[in-house]
Amino acid sequence: MKKLGVEKIISISACGSLKKHMKPLDIVVPDQYVDRTNQARRMTFFGDGIVGHVAFAQPVCGALSKELYETGRSLGIPMHLGGTYINMEGPQFSTKAESEMYRLWGMDIIAMSNMAEAKLAREAEICFATLACVTDYDCWYLNESVGSVSVDLIINNLKKNIGNAKKIVRGVLKRMKEDHCHCGCHSALKDAIMTDPKVMPPATKKKLKLIIGKYI
Ligand SMILES: [Zn+2]
Repeated sequence: MKKLGVEKIISISACGSLKKHMKPLDIVVPDQYVDRTNQARRMTFFGDGIVGHVAFAQPVCGALSKELYETGRSLGIPMHLGGTYINMEGPQFSTKAESEMYRLWGMDIIAMSNMAEAKLAREAEICFATLACVTDYDCWYLNESVGSVSVDLIINNLKKNIGNAKKIVRGVLKRMKEDHCHCGCHSALKDAIMTDPKVMPPATKKKLKLIIGKYI
């Protein structure tokens, strides 16, 4: 993406809802994440002799998120601006005890993929926001009469959601033509690189040139 000159990433993903008012077929634009992954996912471009600590208190681009939300609303799509996305490891879905624990923590939606995307986009100084399409209520809401979360249920709802997500992307692209974004995403590494350029290993420096080149 960085090599192609991409400046903004709109991630589209399926998620489960942990809140009753975030209904299946609604779209959530999350503004926070909690990481519950536990396997070794590569979530940074840094390492190998170059240390970088980007600020991540606000993990998504606020300006892009607002554009997505407003575009969806103007199209009559049920949207929610803000919400905390818990990134579970998967690939299995939650146990009921986990689902209930996440609700007690105040989490809003649950899925498996966004955490790494958001972290890497920030390090690459690319704006990032998500259209998290609610496909189901996770298992906290279910009982014997409702049944359990199944891949069939999720895929069927996701297909319905895809049409809405495409409409939002088309609408946002039109609005972006007059875009003068003043978010901080494109300078996220300004004060984040800790290693003195003089001691950076040449191989790592070369590998990271695309994202740190303008600062060293
Ligand atoms: Zn941004």
